[in-house]
Amino acid sequence: MRTVVIDPGHGGIDRNGLYTTAPNKMFRFPDGTTLYEGVINRQVAGLLYHLLDTYPNIRPVFTVNPHDPRDISLRQRVKVANSYHDSILISIHHNAGGGSGAEIFTNPGQTSSDRLATMIFDQLSPIYSKYSLPMRPDHSDGDPDKESAFYVLRKTKGVAVLLEYGFFDSERDRKLITDANFQKKVAYATFQAIKKFVELQR
Ligand SMILES: [Zn+2]
Repeated sequence: MRTVVIDPGHGGIDRNGLYTTAPNKMFRFPDGTTLYEGVINRQVAGLLYHLLDTYPNIRPVFTVNPHDPRDISLRQRVKVANSYHDSILISIHHNAGGGSGAEIFTNPGQTSSDRLATMIFDQLSPIYSKYSLPMRPDHSDGDPDKESAFYVLRKTKGVAVLLEYGFFDSERDRKLITDANFQKKVAYATFQAIKKFVELQR
């Protein structure tokens, strides 16, 4: 049994309607719509959990339940991941800052995290291609993921991958990343890659 720790980045909306990560990780479009990264992360995380939960060799757990709006610390997120032997951390995010499309990150260096990242890349690519959204690879080290020593990637002992499924401040990405059907597709693709990765390691 392999534990997959699903980490929905940032916070959610609390019972008073307040975004617990505000004023960060949110974006107000000129038409008045506001996107909250943490809310979208929680939607994808919930879908991924249910898919993984159907699979007998995988036990999914959350760092923070999607119904829990708290923006728990990075340290706490890592603590959950490291509390399971040989776990796989999937940290779910959406990007910002003027780009478009998906990115997959692992900690620098070649580990089995890179193998999983490549599998996720391969599963996501046809979906993004279909919707004309770019995958944003970095092939300089021979694989498509980007490498960055993000805290959750650096401190997690087991396999750890951080996903950015699109840009929450992008006019081009916003409709897709908030679309339930698109979210289902990317969650399913991520599930397929994790399943394949776990099967190959058994
Ligand atoms: Zn984020």
